Amino acid sequence: MESKHGEKTVLDPFGTSFVADYERLYKEFGIEPFQPLLSKVPNPSVYMRRGIVFGHRDFGRVLDAMVKGEKFAVLSGIKPTGEFHLGTLMTVREIIYFQQHGAQTFYCIADIEAYEDNKIPFEKSEKIAVDNVADLLALGFNPEKGYIYRQSKENHVKDLAIIFGRAVTLATMKAIYGERHIGLYLAALIQAGDILLPQMEEFGGPKPTVIPVGVDQDPHIRFTRDLAQIFQKKHGFILPSSTYHKLMKGLDGSPKMSKRLMNYFTLHDKPEVIAERISNAFTGGRATIKEQRELGGVPEICPVYEICLFHFVEDDDEIIKTYHDCKTGKLLCGEHKKQTIDIVLKFVKEHRRKKQKFVDKARQILQVE
Ligand code: SF4
Repeated sequence: MESKHGEKTVLDPFGTSFVADYERLYKEFGIEPFQPLLSKVPNPSVYMRRGIVFGHRDFGRVLDAMVKGEKFAVLSGIKPTGEFHLGTLMTVREIIYFQQHGAQTFYCIADIEAYEDNKIPFEKSEKIAVDNVADLLALGFNPEKGYIYRQSKENHVKDLAIIFGRAVTLATMKAIYGERHIGLYLAALIQAGDILLPQMEEFGGPKPTVIPVGVDQDPHIRFTRDLAQIFQKKHGFILPSSTYHKLMKGLDGSPKMSKRLMNYFTLHDKPEVIAERISNAFTGGRATIKEQRELGGVPEICPVYEICLFHFVEDDDEIIKTYHDCKTGKLLCGEHKKQTIDIVLKFVKEHRRKKQKFVDKARQILQVE
C-alpha cells in the first residue's frame, strides 16, 4: 500500500511505522471501520467522536458487554522508556475511558519490551515506571479499580509466554515481525501473555477484552488472536478485541514523533522548550499573510491543528470553529500557535501539580523504595 508520494504503509511495533492511507487499512489489513459503531457507544470519547479512533477488531463484542453492563476488561501497556508524551497520553486516556465505563482495568508496564527493544536496564526502567505511574494516576486512573503491573514481575504473563512459545515457529515470527533478535520474539510472546492476562482464572476468567492501541501495534493483536484461537479449548479464551487510533505526526510535519528529530514534547519538558517547539512547528499555512487571508490554511496537514484536535480542545464546537477559521483565512498561524501554547502550558502546569501528589502512591504500587 502506497501514498500518492510513493511512501509505503508499514505497521511495525518494533520499528518505524507509517500509514499511507487509513481507508485502505480496512481492505488490506482486515481492520474494521469504527464509525458504524459510534452511535451505539455510550458517551464516546473525544478520540472516538473525531475519528482518531478509526478502526477495530471485534470491538462489537466489548460494546455489547458495555451496553448490557456485563463484565469486560481493558488492557494496554506502555514501555517505560521516558517521560509521557502526547502518544502515551492518548493510550492512557483510552484506558481511563474504559475504566470509567465499567471495565476491569489493566495497565501493563512493558519493561521486558523496553529492555529487549530499547536496551533499557531494569533498574532504570523501574525509576521511569514510577514517574509514568504518577502521570497515569494524575490523569485519572483509579488504582483501586485497576491492576498496574510490570511484565518482569508478573509470573502469569511469563507463564503464558512459555505456553504460547510451544505453538510458534521461527518462520511465523519472521513472517510477522521480520528478522529480529530472539529477545524481541520473546517480548512479542510476553505481550501475547499481557493481552490474555485479564482472561486468566486468577483475574475472573474469560471475558471480552479490548486493547486500545496505535495501529502500529496491530501485528501484536493479530498474533495474539491466533494464539487465543489455538489455546481456546484449553483456556476458554475469547479472542481479544482492539481499537486503533491514528498515529500522531511530528511537530515538523514528519510522519512520526521522534526523539532523534526532537519534533515533539513531553509533559515534563520545560515550558520554554514546549513553547519553542510549538512556535517552530510546521503548519498548513501559506507563504504570506495575504495569501492565507485569501486562500485559507490547510489544517488537514497541520501538526498544530492536530495537537489541538487530538488532545487540547475538548469542546467539539470550538474545534469545528478553529477548522473553519483556518480554512477561511480568518485565523493566522502565528495567532493560532500562541493560543495553542497557552492551552498546552496551562494543561501541563495543572498536570504537574496533580502529579506531585501521586509520586508516593506510584512507589507504593510498584513496591519501589
Ligand atoms: S491557522 Fe492553525 S490550523 Fe491553520 S494552518 Fe495555521 S497553525 Fe495550522
